Parts: sequence; C-alpha cells; structure tokens
Amino acid sequence: MKCIFCKHTSNECVSSEHILPESLGNIEAMLAPGIVCDKCNNYFSREIEKPVLSSGIFKLLRNDKQLPSKKGKIPNFGDTDKPELPDYRVMGRFLGKVGLEALAQCAQKVNGWNEEIVIKPEIDELRKFVRFNYGKEDWPFTFRTLYPVNAIFKENGQTFEVLNEYDLLYTKGYELYIILVLFGVEFAMNLGGRILDGYKNWLEENDWESPLYLGKNL
Ligand SMILES: [Zn+2]
Repeated sequence: MKCIFCKHTSNECVSSEHILPESLGNIEAMLAPGIVCDKCNNYFSREIEKPVLSSGIFKLLRNDKQLPSKKGKIPNFGDTDKPELPDYRVMGRFLGKVGLEALAQCAQKVNGWNEEIVIKPEIDELRKFVRFNYGKEDWPFTFRTLYPVNAIFKENGQTFEVLNEYDLLYTKGYELYIILVLFGVEFAMNLGGRILDGYKNWLEENDWESPLYLGKNL
C-alpha cells in the first residue's frame, strides 16, 4: 500500500483518515489506515482542517449546530467574533483533499486501485497543491447556496437536517469534479486542472440543478 498523497509505502500506518472532519458531523466517511499515511493525516488536520474549522464562519455554524470537535469541544462564537470566510487557498486545499479522498473511496472497490491512483499523472498537480502547498496560483472552486443552513428535509415520514454530503461528477469533457455541500453551500472543484468550464457547462445543460441530486455518481 502507498499513500495517495506523498506516495510513500504506508503498510505500517495506523490512523484512519476522515474524508470530512468529525467536527463537521462526519462519523462515517473514512478511509482505512495507509490509504492516507499517518504523516499526511497529521499534516492535513494541522495545516488544512484546523485553519478552515477555526475560521469565523465555521465556528459560527458549528456553534449553531452544536457540533463538537474530536476532543468533544463546541466552539464559542461571541459578540466580538466575526463570521469570516476561511482563506481561499486553504479552502481550496481542503476541497482538493476531500476530492482526492472521495476518488480513493470510490476506486477502492476495484482490484489494483491503489497503484493506479498513486501513479495517475492527471492528479499529481492537485496532490502537490494539497499536500505540499505547491504552486503560486490558487486552485479555483465555485460556491453557491443550495438550501438554507437550517433547512429541514423529510423522507419516509422522518425529518432530518443535512450537515454535509458529497459526490464526484464526471463531465462529458472527461473532467472529474468533487461536489461538496457543507451546511447548504455547494462547492465544486475540478480535480484535474485549474479550470471550471466543464462544471459551468454542466450546470447550464442541467438547469442549474446540483449534481448531487441528479443520479449518484460515487
Ligand atoms: Zn502520505
């Protein structure tokens, strides 16, 4: 087994990687130890997830939804706090991390998937951007509100809130996108390059629906 980010041998690794942090209400979507090595796992929680989760807007939302961190702490949001957005570059690295891990989650059903993902040149640029903060340019992504943060959904007589959901979108032009919805806001990022045209075209062709609700890809 090799780590899908740094490509080092990772058979001895022990930590499971959460595709989305537990602090965003994710207790299910995880990758087995070694798919992301322990070193990369630690790096992501320190350098990417922590700055995103401690930004004003995420503190406000986590406080509102009473979402505890891994250590059981719910963040404060006081009168003097401002709901600031996370830094665009760090948010891009966060989305890229989720995207590459969602790809591994999807691919792992197929024999030989680990080697195939590790050698795949099309995702090397994003890997380096996410793991090593490589490149001067940011990695562009779009965001838009799909539903209000306090929306209540009904299915089979049960009501529930949706904190997060994600899927991969493969476009006609063979581009692969991660589509992630956090608290009703949909983010989209191309895993293969710094262009978003394929997603814009897809939206126009599909009446601005979310790919999350037009057939499950992942
Ligand atoms: Zn690694």
